[in-house]
Amino acid sequence: MIKAVVAVQKLQPYIPGKPIEELQRELGLDSIIKLASNENPLGASEKVKAALTQELNQLTRYPDGNGFILKKALSEKYSVELNQITLGNGSNDVLELIARAFLNEQTSAIYSQHAFAVYPISVQAVGAQAIVTPAKNWGHDLVAMADAVVENTRVIFLANPNNPTGTWFTRAELTEFMSRVPKNVVVVLDEAYCEYAQPAEYPNGLDFLAEYENLIITRTFSKAYGLAALRIGYALSSPELADILNRVRQPFNVNHFALVAASIALQDNDYLEQTRALNQAGMQQLEQGFAELNLSYIPSIGNFIAVDFSIPSGDIYQALLKSGVIVRPVANYQMPTFLRVSIGIQEENQRFLAALTQVLTDRY
Ligand SMILES: *Cc1c(COP(=O)(O)O)cnc(C)c1O
Repeated sequence: MIKAVVAVQKLQPYIPGKPIEELQRELGLDSIIKLASNENPLGASEKVKAALTQELNQLTRYPDGNGFILKKALSEKYSVELNQITLGNGSNDVLELIARAFLNEQTSAIYSQHAFAVYPISVQAVGAQAIVTPAKNWGHDLVAMADAVVENTRVIFLANPNNPTGTWFTRAELTEFMSRVPKNVVVVLDEAYCEYAQPAEYPNGLDFLAEYENLIITRTFSKAYGLAALRIGYALSSPELADILNRVRQPFNVNHFALVAASIALQDNDYLEQTRALNQAGMQQLEQGFAELNLSYIPSIGNFIAVDFSIPSGDIYQALLKSGVIVRPVANYQMPTFLRVSIGIQEENQRFLAALTQVLTDRY
């Protein structure tokens, strides 16, 4: 019998949010809402959709393996050089490139308890040792994470804000952390939700790039930019680290349509503003709904919120599915009493809260 290498045999596969079509097949429901994968409930920008319809005759050609149009757009928007940018098939791709480039069986990587599930998968897939630091108030304990560095540590993964907790750390905390981490350790600052972050003390990773050659910022078009289906994300780093990532990258890891769509989305400020406003209102709506139901939640600066039922939440998740509402169980994040809910449009949030109220009423 054929067996995978030990590191791969031990892997727990990523569990995605349940697709709407799957629930439709299983339960035959007409009307389903999905608040499970932190997608933008507005749908993609109209400008992006219009541009993509012009590109169908490009289906037959390989994409530009250098991704010039998107790198140019990123370089202008964020004042970075082209050689500081690495494009990925989603930022998930970039996270894996990082693991492949810097980790092996002889090395270790650090991430926090309750951190994004792709970090453990990427680390274990290359056989590296995972050092998991205990969370502090559900978020990253940056002091403990810097303390955890050992001789063979090569990578530290930070998510700001973190998914699924929505927790974040301040500029002062990041500054202190970066000053303590040895220069031979790559710090990955995952900013998948930075476009949503409002607090004045929330740090912009870009402000740290010039000073720290061991810093890699990862960002994505899947969340606030509403392009999850296209799979497009990127890393910003020193040219030295970008050169290393480029060596392990597949020659055509990003498709043509993603390059076109992302370069247009990046300039659609109205769409981003609308997205932020909708998210802020929706977050308030859910927080208020949870308060009325006497449920506690972890304050979040992302486009999702983790709500606590104080009992294992699996039955509540299943009951919500039966009423056509898909949210996200997070037991695999050591949060068995929580569900994570993505912020939807007003009507979706309302329908979720009504379904939840019904489910909780039926139970007690
Ligand atoms: C969603 C997410 C990503 C990856 O998204 P891609 O679609 O692969 O770009 C990365 N990090 C965090 C914390 C996320 O929640």
